[in-house]
Amino acid sequence: MRNEYTRQTRWGHEPEPVDPDLTPPGSIYVKQMIWVACNDCDLQVQSCVTQTLASGVNCPDCGRRLTAPRVLGNPDVAAARVADIEEILRDGVEPGTPFSPEA
Ligand SMILES: [Zn+2]
Repeated sequence: MRNEYTRQTRWGHEPEPVDPDLTPPGSIYVKQMIWVACNDCDLQVQSCVTQTLASGVNCPDCGRRLTAPRVLGNPDVAAARVADIEEILRDGVEPGTPFSPEA
């Protein structure tokens, strides 16, 4: 449903692939996301932080640059740090891990 209080959401990039050996069906994973508004298209654009750091965010409808890449230094190093944090967060919520409520 769309009304004056809602905004369409679309990916600003292709979703990142998930390795089925590391994340089998039914398991969880954590991705840090951001959303950026394109006011020209009345669109909310979602992007993984890893993608945002390296490539910025463009509107998938009009192509307008919404944010520039945000890395000082090597974007691969910054993306690896984000991936490490995502892994720590996943371990925190995955059942059977030391930080889960069931442990
Ligand atoms: Zn747009």
